[in-house]
Amino acid sequence: MIYILFVLFIACGKPANIDPTFMSYNNQYFKLSNAYGIVPQYSVDIYFASLPKDTLAECNTDSNGRQIEVSDAWQDLTPLEREMLFDHEATHCYCNRKHTFFQNNTEIPYDTVEQVSTLASKGFLPDGCPQSIMYPYLVSNECAERHHTEYIFEMFKGCNPT
Ligand SMILES: [Zn+2]
Repeated sequence: MIYILFVLFIACGKPANIDPTFMSYNNQYFKLSNAYGIVPQYSVDIYFASLPKDTLAECNTDSNGRQIEVSDAWQDLTPLEREMLFDHEATHCYCNRKHTFFQNNTEIPYDTVEQVSTLASKGFLPDGCPQSIMYPYLVSNECAERHHTEYIFEMFKGCNPT
C-alpha cells in the first residue's frame, strides 16, 4: 500500500499552477496527447512573466520544477498563433523536445543560441512554411492555417514524456 502511494506521488507530483488564460490551451494539449497515446508526466506551472525582448515564451526547468513563462505580447497574437505558441512551449516542457529542423527526412535537434541563428534557415516546406512547430520562431498565422494538421501530428513525433 505504501509503495503504491509512493509511486502515485512521484507520478502525479504537485498540482500545476496554471494561469486561467492558459487552462483551455493546456486541456486541449492534454486531450491531443492522450489521442496520440502520450501521458504528460511533468507538472508544469504556466503564467505570464516579463521576458527578454523578442522572447514570446519560454519553457524553463529549475529546482522548483518546470514552468512555461509567457510574455504580455500574447495579447497581440491571433487565436491560432496563441495555439501554436502554447503547443511549441508545451512540447518543450511535456515532451522534452528541442528546436528542430529536418534534413533528408531526419530530425536534427538543436538548442543553443548559436545553433538557432545558424540553423533556423533550414527545415522548410516547399511553400516556405517551417516543417515543424519546433522551429525556433513563432509559426505565422498563414502557415498555421495551411499546415495545422501536419504540425499537430509532427509535434508528438519524438515526444519523450519522462
Ligand atoms: Zn522553443
